[in-house]
Amino acid sequence: MPPKPPAPQALRPSTVLTHAARRPAQHHGMVNTPIYRGSTILSSTLQEWENRKTPDNPYASYCRFGTPTTAALEEMVAEVEGGYGSIVLPSGLAACTHAILALVRTGDHVLICDSVYGPVRAFAEAVLARFGIEAEFYDPGVGADIARLLCPRTRVVYVEAPGSGTFEMQDIPAIAQQARQAGAFVVMDNTWATPLYFKPFVHGVDVSIQAGTKYLVGHSDAILGVATANERAWPLLRKGVQDFGQTIGPDDVFLAMRGMRTLALRLRQHWETGLRLAHLLSGHPLVERVMHPALPDDPGHALWRRDFTGASGLFAIALRPMPREALAAFFDTLQLFGIGLSWGGYESLVLPMDTPRRNTRAWPMQGPLVRIHAGLEDADDLAADLMRGLEAADQTLRTGTGPGSGLVVPRTIDCIEEQA
Ligand SMILES: *Cc1c(COP(=O)(O)O)cnc(C)c1O
Repeated sequence: MPPKPPAPQALRPSTVLTHAARRPAQHHGMVNTPIYRGSTILSSTLQEWENRKTPDNPYASYCRFGTPTTAALEEMVAEVEGGYGSIVLPSGLAACTHAILALVRTGDHVLICDSVYGPVRAFAEAVLARFGIEAEFYDPGVGADIARLLCPRTRVVYVEAPGSGTFEMQDIPAIAQQARQAGAFVVMDNTWATPLYFKPFVHGVDVSIQAGTKYLVGHSDAILGVATANERAWPLLRKGVQDFGQTIGPDDVFLAMRGMRTLALRLRQHWETGLRLAHLLSGHPLVERVMHPALPDDPGHALWRRDFTGASGLFAIALRPMPREALAAFFDTLQLFGIGLSWGGYESLVLPMDTPRRNTRAWPMQGPLVRIHAGLEDADDLAADLMRGLEAADQTLRTGTGPGSGLVVPRTIDCIEEQA
């Protein structure tokens, strides 16, 4: 008998990412699971048809339930997240919304962190409200005091750490412990850290979401999401998603798998470059605050150190209040950072952000917020580019600008537009 392979838990993440979900013997020796296109799966006998339709074999009867291509990505994500089962969805947002929908019914109460990804807030306020599900937003710093907000109707506690665009950390184990005692499920958006830098199921989460569009795909060339559940939540999640008929074409799934093979390597570089830029910016006179939990003076640093094993390349800065012309000079001078939504690709991005919406307490800072994604360019080149941008803003401030240049007052955004 060949030696038994070591248990998957014993392998480090980069090894898992390299070896997960590969079955060359089933695909003519191909290293990668090929792109299977299909709708119909043929059976040649009645017995074969009946066998395909057994409840534990839903994938093999019709391609809306998946193909060997989607199953390979799902296996890969489940393994690296440390969950029981994963399901792929057509976008990151679809993964967020379906994870909630799969668990709730009319009359339920859902607790959502106030620092949540904007479109999830919009979904809660529009769709959940329409179905009679009450969404309440909580301060991300709540910790074990979440107990005071939990009630017998609370079905889901939705966490995201660090928060979208503003990077507040949360005490996830403390929140999860209270939620579990109250009989609620904990759903987490784990896109920022990826499963490489935060292990959701070890920290008490029941459903973990990846906006695969970001680091899993990693090249800004596909949109998809993945939701992963522990054994308790898995039957509800799978059925909840499949009842809506959600499915995804195989090309994007293939791109996500291809991206994931290099995830560990890419993330290390995003982390290193991002933190370097964050340090550099925190010393600049035009920068009021840098929001990055891996910075030692960040309010969330202790939680980050305790629970996370790394940081990604996404963080934000609050600039000092300045006229629009100065802000425009900053953005327009940048050559290596494009202005754009999404993140997690190989390329560096900046994004002007509007004042974050908050239910629990007003956003404290006055100046413009800029979200920064550190890409895979040389860190020295990126640093120089940012410094040139700030220098241009400073120049504009000094020389004064055209008439009517008041301070930039960031407007509060409509959630439908808001992207983080
Ligand atoms: C981008 C993003 C999403 C949504 O992903 P899409 O693929 O764009 O729908 C969800 N959560 C977070 C934290 C994100 O940054």
